[in-house]
Amino acid sequence: MPIDATKPYDESNIFARILRGELPAETVYEDEHALAFHDINPLAAVHILVIPKGAYVSWDDFSDRATEAEIAGFVRAVGKVARDQGVVVQGYRLLANIGKRAGQEVGHLHVHIFGGQPLGPMLAR
Ligand code: AMP
Repeated sequence: MPIDATKPYDESNIFARILRGELPAETVYEDEHALAFHDINPLAAVHILVIPKGAYVSWDDFSDRATEAEIAGFVRAVGKVARDQGVVVQGYRLLANIGKRAGQEVGHLHVHIFGGQPLGPMLAR
């Protein structure tokens, strides 16, 4: 069931639990501001999720409330993970589902990195 991204952050969401160490994750990168791990249900040969460490529901929430350091750290982490995963030369896709119409399932901002194979059209018609 997609979340309502206009609602306040819910501390019980799965990624908050991963950040608190209550659930495992296959971590590929971590720093002060961001955590990146393999998606549990990969939709491409490379499918990594990058999340900020702060409690933000969505991109618009993050861009509104996060500090400059958090924003810089998160954006840099996404790029570093893409480089580390070796997807830059062949190309890759970033995706953030936000709210109901986009089907956001987890109410903690996350950017999907897809790569490692041809990715097809941006959206199905
Ligand atoms: P979204 O639909 O954009 O909210 O994407 C949520 C993503 O989180 C999906 O691709 C799920 O497969 C992934 N996911 C859910 N639970 C976990 C988990 N425990 N570890 C890693 N990925 C997860």
